[in-house]
Amino acid sequence: MVKTEYQARKSRLIESFEHQVKSAVHQFQIAIYFRDTTVLEQLTANFARDNAIDYAMIYDHTGKTVSETIDPAHSAVSTPSLEIVRNDFDGYDTAYVTRTDQLTNANYVDLTLPVFTLASPVDTRINRKKYTDLITSQEAKQSRHFAGYMRLGINEQQLRGGITVFARKVATLGGGIVLASILLAWETSRRITKPLSKLVKAAEDISHGKLDTKFSLTGSSEVREISTYLNMIVESIASHKTQVEVDNQLLSLKVNERTTELSERNEELNRAIEEANQAKNRMKQLAYLDSLTSLPNRRFFTEQLETLLQTAKYRQHSLALLFIDLDNFKRINDSLGHNAGDLLLKECAARLSSCVRASDLTYLDTGETYPISRFGGDEFTVVLNQIDQPESAGTIAERLLEALSQPIIIDNQEFVITPSIGIALAPEHGSDCQTLLKHADTAMYHAKKQGKNSYQYYSSDMEQADIARLQLETDLRKALQREELELHYQPQVDVVTGEIAGAEVLLRWHHSKKGYISPVEFIAVAEEIGIIGELGEWVLEQACEQMKMFQEDNLPVPQLSVNVSSLQFNDDFGRRLQNIICRTGLDPQAIVVELTEGIIMHNVHETIARLRELRDIGVRLSVDDFGTGYSSLSYLSRFPLNELKIDKSFIIDFDKSKNKTSLVLAIIAMGKSLNLELVAEGIETEEQFLFLKENGVRVVQGYLFSKPLPMKDFHSLLKSHNFPEKIQEISSDKRASKVA
Ligand code: C2E
Ligand code: MG
Ligand code: MG
Repeated sequence: MVKTEYQARKSRLIESFEHQVKSAVHQFQIAIYFRDTTVLEQLTANFARDNAIDYAMIYDHTGKTVSETIDPAHSAVSTPSLEIVRNDFDGYDTAYVTRTDQLTNANYVDLTLPVFTLASPVDTRINRKKYTDLITSQEAKQSRHFAGYMRLGINEQQLRGGITVFARKVATLGGGIVLASILLAWETSRRITKPLSKLVKAAEDISHGKLDTKFSLTGSSEVREISTYLNMIVESIASHKTQVEVDNQLLSLKVNERTTELSERNEELNRAIEEANQAKNRMKQLAYLDSLTSLPNRRFFTEQLETLLQTAKYRQHSLALLFIDLDNFKRINDSLGHNAGDLLLKECAARLSSCVRASDLTYLDTGETYPISRFGGDEFTVVLNQIDQPESAGTIAERLLEALSQPIIIDNQEFVITPSIGIALAPEHGSDCQTLLKHADTAMYHAKKQGKNSYQYYSSDMEQADIARLQLETDLRKALQREELELHYQPQVDVVTGEIAGAEVLLRWHHSKKGYISPVEFIAVAEEIGIIGELGEWVLEQACEQMKMFQEDNLPVPQLSVNVSSLQFNDDFGRRLQNIICRTGLDPQAIVVELTEGIIMHNVHETIARLRELRDIGVRLSVDDFGTGYSSLSYLSRFPLNELKIDKSFIIDFDKSKNKTSLVLAIIAMGKSLNLELVAEGIETEEQFLFLKENGVRVVQGYLFSKPLPMKDFHSLLKSHNFPEKIQEISSDKRASKVA
C-alpha cells in the first residue's frame, strides 16, 4: 500500500518536475538559442535546489551540455552520457530511466525532456525580439525543432524521505488544486458555455433574420464546427438574400417593363376598340340607314317596329303605321333618269320628315328619334307612337299630302309628286309587324285605286278586294287560252276630209262572269304578273292580221295604231315585230307603234337605238299620252318619231282652264316645230274638235266620232263612210252659231 502510494507520489513528483520544465520552456528556448549561460545556469541551479534532485543539466540540439548543476552534497554522483540515458527512447519522448549510480550506489530516476522551438536552432539570423515573438506566437505550439534537452537526476532516497514533506506540500497544494480546480471548472464552464450561449444567440439572430454577416467564435472544435455551420447558414442566407434582392430588382424591372407594355397594349386596345366602334357604327349605318336619304331602312324600321309594338302591347297604347307610296314615281324616274329621281326622293324624304315631330316616336334602346323610314324604292313608312285616337293618324297623313303637294324644282323644272298613304292601327289592325305592314300596304294600294293623292285607313273589306284581285290575276292568266281577249278599234278621223286616217287598237277582256273589263284595270296586272309580253305579242299579231284583211277587203283604213307596254319594249321587241310583219306579209307602214312618253324618255340612248331599229323595219312611231310625262325637246328631236298624240286629259275640259288651253297650243306648236303629225285623243265635243282643227291638229280620235268598237261594228263603220258628213255638220253648226 505504502509502495503503491510511493509509486503514485513518485509519478506525481516526476510529473511536477516535467511540468516545471514545460513552464519554463520559453526561458530554455531563448537561453539555449542565444547560449545565455547565466540564465542556463540559473535554471539548472533552481532545479538542483530541490532536495530530491541531485543534478540538473541542459543540452543543446546537438546534445552538447550547455549548463550543469550538481547538488554539492552529492557531488560524487556520476552522470552517464545523454545517449546512454535516452538510448531506448525516441528523440521526441520524455524519458525515465531508473538506475543505480556506480559511484554512490544511490538509486536515481534519470529524467530527460526534449525542449522544442519554432525557430531552427541553426538559423542565426533571428534576433532576440523576433525570436520572442516567434516562440510566443500561436504557431510556436506546433513547433518541432529541437532546442535541446533538460535532464534531472532524481534521488529515490531523497524522494522517499521527502514524501512527508511532499505530503504536506501536497496537502497545501491540494487546497490550492481544489481552488484551482474550481476556478478551472468555472473557467472551463465559462469557456464552454460562453461560446455556446454566443452560438445560441447567433442561431436565434439567424432565425430572426437579424444576423446577416459572418461571426467568429473561438472555442472547442464542436463550437467551431457549429459556428462554421452557422456561418454557412448566414452565408447561404446572405447569398439567398442577395439573390432575392437581385430577383426582386429584376422582378420590379420586369414588372415596370410589363406595365409599360401593358399600358401600351391597353392604348392599342382602346384604339382598336374605338376603330371597331367606328367601323361598327359605319356598318350599322350601312346596315340600318338608307344611303340616299339617310333615313332608317326597311331592316332598321321593322326591327324597331317590333320593339314598339311589344311596348305598345305592354303599356296598352295605340300605334299607327302610315305606308306611303309616291304616285307615278316610276314614270318620272323613267322620264328624267335616275339622278333626277334620286333628287326627287331626297326632297320627298326631307318634306315627309319635316311633317313628323320627333316626339311622335322615340326608339327605345337608342333614344334616337326616327319616326320615318325609307322602306324601299318610292315607299316610305311613318310610325306614330302612342296616338290618342285613330283620327290623329289621318291628321298626320293630311299634313304629309299637303307637304308633298307643293311643286318640287329639279333642273329648273317643276314637278308635282303626290303620295298615296295607307294607315293601319295597332292593335286594331294587327299587333305584329308583318300583319301591320301588310294591312298598311293594302290600305295604300286602295288609296291609289281611289285616284291617288289620298289616304285610306285599313279595313277588312279591302282584303276582299285583294282576294278579288287575286282572282283577277288567275283569270287573266287563263284569258288567252279561253279566248276571252279581243281587240276593239277606235277610228282616227281626218279633221279636214272626215276620212278615216287610221284606227287605234284597244284591248278588251271579255270576262265570262264580269263582262268587259277595261285595259286600265288589267294591263297593269298583266305587267305585274309578267304576262304582258305574251299579251302584247298576241295584240300585235291580231292587229297585223286584221290590217292585212282590211287591205285585202279594200277597206279605207290606212293604218292601225298598237299600244306597246314599257315591259314589252325591250331589246327583243324589234325582232319579234319584224317576225310578225313578215309572217303576215303586211306593209310595215300600216302599223303605228304607240309608246308612252315615259317609255321613250327612260334611258334615252337605248331608246334611240331601239326606235331606229323600228324605223328601219318600216313601222311608224307615235308618242302616246304626250304631255303627261317630262319630255325634253332636245331629246324628242333626236328620236325618229312620226307622230305626237296629245293626251286626252288636256282635251277634256280644256276650254274651262286657260292653263290647259295654252298647254294644248304649246304641244301643237312643239309637234309642228318637230315636223310631227299631231293626233288629239279624247275628243268628245264639237268645240274641242273645232278648236283643235283651227289650231292645226290634223287627226282626232274620240267619242265624238266613235267609241272603240268590236271588229264587226268597226267593219260596218268603215263601210258607212259617215264622217265627212259629220264634219260638214259640225262646220255648218259652227257657221250657224256664228251667224246667230
Ligand atoms: P290610250 O292608249 O291613251 O287609249 C285611249 C284611251 O282613251 C282608250 O281607253 C279609249 O277608250 C279612251 N278614249 C278614247 N276616246 C275617248 C273619249 O272621247 N273620251 C274618253 N273619256 N276616253 C276616250 P281604253 O280603251 O280604256 O284604254 C286605256 C288604256 O289602256 C290605253 O290608253 C292604253 O294605254 C291601254 N291599252 C289599251 N289597249 C292596250 C293594248 O293592247 N296594249 C297595251 N299595252 N295597252 C293598252
Ligand atoms: Mg294609245
Ligand atoms: Mg293615249
